[in-house]
Amino acid sequence: MKYIDGFRNSESEVAVSRQIKELASALDRQVTIMEVCGTHTMSIAKFAIRNLLPENIRLVSGPGCPVCVTPQGYINTALELAMGGKIIMTFADMMNVPGTKSSLSSIRSSGARIETCYSPESAIEAAVKNPDDEVVFLGVGFETTIGPVISIVSSACARNIRNISLLTSFKVIPPAMEALAADKELRIDAFLCPAHVSAIIGADAYRPFVAKYHRPCVVAGFEPLDILGGIKSIIEQVLKGEAKVENNYSRVVKDEGNPKAMSFINKYLEPADSYWRGIGIIPESGMSLKNEFSPFDAEKRFGMTIVNDEEKKGCRCGDVLKGKIVPPDCPLFATKCTPSSPVGPCMVSSEGTCAAYYKYSK
Ligand code: SF4
Repeated sequence: MKYIDGFRNSESEVAVSRQIKELASALDRQVTIMEVCGTHTMSIAKFAIRNLLPENIRLVSGPGCPVCVTPQGYINTALELAMGGKIIMTFADMMNVPGTKSSLSSIRSSGARIETCYSPESAIEAAVKNPDDEVVFLGVGFETTIGPVISIVSSACARNIRNISLLTSFKVIPPAMEALAADKELRIDAFLCPAHVSAIIGADAYRPFVAKYHRPCVVAGFEPLDILGGIKSIIEQVLKGEAKVENNYSRVVKDEGNPKAMSFINKYLEPADSYWRGIGIIPESGMSLKNEFSPFDAEKRFGMTIVNDEEKKGCRCGDVLKGKIVPPDCPLFATKCTPSSPVGPCMVSSEGTCAAYYKYSK
């Protein structure tokens, strides 16, 4: 069977898979490669990439899904704001993420004003249409999403709109990679770096990490050949005893990234410690609104404190997000926890590892 373009050509995939097997036969140990991108996670599951690899190459998914790493306490705070009468605007993938007692979708059916949107600009429109109400946008995401979401603050300043704010849980990827690489128990040998995030931060952003932790990092696209090519590059580095950054996705990612997007982000936000679901606090792995923009910070504006609550009993999202286990190792997987009745966020999000395993492995 041949796919539609050069990146989905089954003959090429099989050929690269053979090369990987050949290279891997020279390894004297198992090599664990982590992908840190929800879209990679879905592609790997969808195209059954694991089936094309030899046994000594282990692919594990990391904390690459922004919804999955957003802590339960954040959801609880969003629920509290909604129940306090605020209009909550959010991307749809947050709707079913469980808080301690309920989710946004369940309280919406009880009358809370929660609207889903495709573009942050809709939040501005909602604020203009409802001048006597407070609109809160749920700002969740990695470097790729931060810019578009922060444009709400930019537009609100330019248009003097004051009844809008952001409940932020922005996260940045390199510090999370550091936390995982530093955890000796996890034994992650190399990273397949995210594509979209890298388009913003650039391949160069991983160089300090590689210099410090000596782990190969390869930026790869989402097509099967991109992913297999990235894995092959990693094994070649491991065999040579090298650790460097390779940008295999130069058709999209520049070494320097997108300086314009980064400078826009840095105008409004500054680095902050951040709590990752299942992992804990990672220093400087988040971004918060600068003090001068605190009127747009929903936590400060409404005197809220996000309390990082306990996870759901039995849910092992934390271990899944660290690549410590794969979803079928969770006793709730596909029994008590399914996409229609999710227990943890890794089963809710369209980019969650548990959802990927459920959809494609079953
Ligand atoms: S299968 Fe469900 S309960 Fe288990 S780790 Fe995944 S999301 Fe959590």
